[in-house]
Amino acid sequence: MAGTSIITVDCEKCKKKYESEVVDHIDLSEDRDLAKSLKTGKANRVQCPKCKKVMYLDRSLVINFEPESLIVLYDPAARRKAVREEHIREYNTVIGINETLEELGEETEFMVISDKKKLRDLVTNYLKEHG
Ligand SMILES: [Zn+2]
Repeated sequence: MAGTSIITVDCEKCKKKYESEVVDHIDLSEDRDLAKSLKTGKANRVQCPKCKKVMYLDRSLVINFEPESLIVLYDPAARRKAVREEHIREYNTVIGINETLEELGEETEFMVISDKKKLRDLVTNYLKEHG
């Protein structure tokens, strides 16, 4: 199941503020449609209820590449190495909570990327192999 949340979006055309559901977490093995929209860069499509302007939000996302034991945190703001390292520290803190998570962490590769093209390449390869 995809993890979603409700956020407030500012319409870039008419400036209206509206609430919309966005995706924060995708499990590629379960969310095939989302995987496809991720590949085309359209994972977080929102539409203004007033002027109908469609926007694709570039937000951070956690993507689980099951069964490849790879978790990718896509964060467009993580261009600086320090930000990426902070994410990895947080991840290590989370998996350090208990033994089950720690074992899972040892078997799982965690990657932080800020490059949308790199994310698309990963998803494209995944869909080729598991599609
Ligand atoms: Zn609008």
